[in-house]
Amino acid sequence: MNVILFGPPGAGKGTQADHLVKYFNLHKISTGDLLRNEINNKTELGNKIKIIIDQGKLVSDDIINNLITNILSDKKFYNRLIFDGYPRNIDQAINLDHLVKKYNQKISCVLSLNVEKEIIIKRILGRQTCSKCGLIFNEHFYPSTKDNHSCGIKFLVKRSDDNDKTILNRLETYLVKTLPILDYYKKLNLLHEINGKGRIDQIFKEISAILASLEA
Ligand SMILES: [Zn+2]
Repeated sequence: MNVILFGPPGAGKGTQADHLVKYFNLHKISTGDLLRNEINNKTELGNKIKIIIDQGKLVSDDIINNLITNILSDKKFYNRLIFDGYPRNIDQAINLDHLVKKYNQKISCVLSLNVEKEIIIKRILGRQTCSKCGLIFNEHFYPSTKDNHSCGIKFLVKRSDDNDKTILNRLETYLVKTLPILDYYKKLNLLHEINGKGRIDQIFKEISAILASLEA
């Protein structure tokens, strides 16, 4: 089965993807990883990509499509892919449709983790790390207490890049760009919307049940 996973920043998409990879023996594809690999392997395409990124420009759909073609044509990954953060626009989605057909595969389902904006903002902005022991807390959802943390609160620090503006921008960009893609998959009857508000293990259970029903 091939799966596409969508979720706004802070919705726990990465964690769910990692669990699914293990549980269903899938191979995770993120375009960020593909681009980095290509650059690190110093391929001809990788050198081109490096120049584009160094100039602060966006990598074209053509390049992304080439990288995805390499994956879909690779027998090693046949019908066991989970796409994370891809496709990013309708053109990429349409191209992905062509490619999966060409390589005799299909998109089995599209999962979208839905979490209210206010909750995501609290999740991200509330994140605290203990500079002494490295444990991670959240001042709204999982505060440091006497019972779960012996260092006390004086070592807790917030990540410096987690300012309101950056997060709101990331969220807005996600919502604006992703909604049309979700609509596209809804029309193809592939979209499953998951309430991403629950606990990680509950969400995983829900997603696993959907995937298991597809395998049956
Ligand atoms: Zn600590």
